[in-house]
Amino acid sequence: MILLEGKTLSTLEKERIRNEIRKEKGRINLTVILVGEDPSSKVYVSSKEKACQELGIDSRIIRLPESTTTEELINIIKDLNSNNTVNGILVQIPLPGHINEEEVLESIDPSKDVDCLHPYNMGRLLIGKPVVEPCTPKGIIKMLDHFNISIEKKKAVVIGRSNIVGKPIALMLMHRNATVTICHSKTQNLEREIQSADIVVAAIGKPLFVKDSMIKEGTIVIDVGITRMEDKANEKGYRLVGDVDFEAVSKKASAITPVPGGVGAMTIAMLMDNVIRLYRLQKERK
Ligand code: NAD
Repeated sequence: MILLEGKTLSTLEKERIRNEIRKEKGRINLTVILVGEDPSSKVYVSSKEKACQELGIDSRIIRLPESTTTEELINIIKDLNSNNTVNGILVQIPLPGHINEEEVLESIDPSKDVDCLHPYNMGRLLIGKPVVEPCTPKGIIKMLDHFNISIEKKKAVVIGRSNIVGKPIALMLMHRNATVTICHSKTQNLEREIQSADIVVAAIGKPLFVKDSMIKEGTIVIDVGITRMEDKANEKGYRLVGDVDFEAVSKKASAITPVPGGVGAMTIAMLMDNVIRLYRLQKERK
């Protein structure tokens, strides 16, 4: 069984990106907008800030109150769009319920959209000509390549159809010549679908959902889920759990990502990679 350690690979990737950044003469900027007080979002934003500092990317965090309106947020984004010192814009989601997320994401200049959430960038991904690729799916493909796991001709089952993970990873696996099935909360016979998979990607947000009885022997299992579960024995009072029952499934899988230290570890490295990619594209256009 191969343990797909994203943590080790992300260290290598960050080193590569740091070297690439050193070669660039100008300053590279990522601006992150955080609206409200969501505790998980705060943690994600500070780890993005930390990664920028480590790699030599100039980061700015714009913290806005929960009461921010859609219009106010869009006006801030418009200013960032026209600011030449800003290379990447990331709006941390989920946004508070009263904000129109779709309108907000569409207001980001696609050439600064580091998360690949603008419909233009999603469309480019759909036709197989991406400007940037969304960070989590990009990290998954990088991991499979790094561990020499071929995708071509495999049957892949993606559980979850979010715009940020499920849909794009399904497209990216298809572009790499896998035969892909997307499953979701309304899928009939989910277990039968999972049983038929050579590669399973679980992006559901339901801890320990995928059991060993659901997969066939030798399946490649990618666990995207991250849920905090109360754990009094842990000094933090919680532990991170994936969508896959790792203990049991790892005994049947031929390769599996751990949680933590798997997919999540790669996501931030890929974000940094997207920032430098957009910076270079912007420089070419000048
Ligand atoms: P989401 O929360 O937007 O949607 C969940 C998806 O799962 C939906 O498409 C739904 O149809 C499907 N689903 C829910 N219950 C189901 C069921 N019983 N059977 C089949 N499908 C079901 O999804 P998301 O934003 O992609 O997040 C999924 C998980 O991945 C979360 O735990 C999130 O924290 C995690 N995540 C991790 C990273 C990372 O970097 N590792 C990045 C993004 C999201």
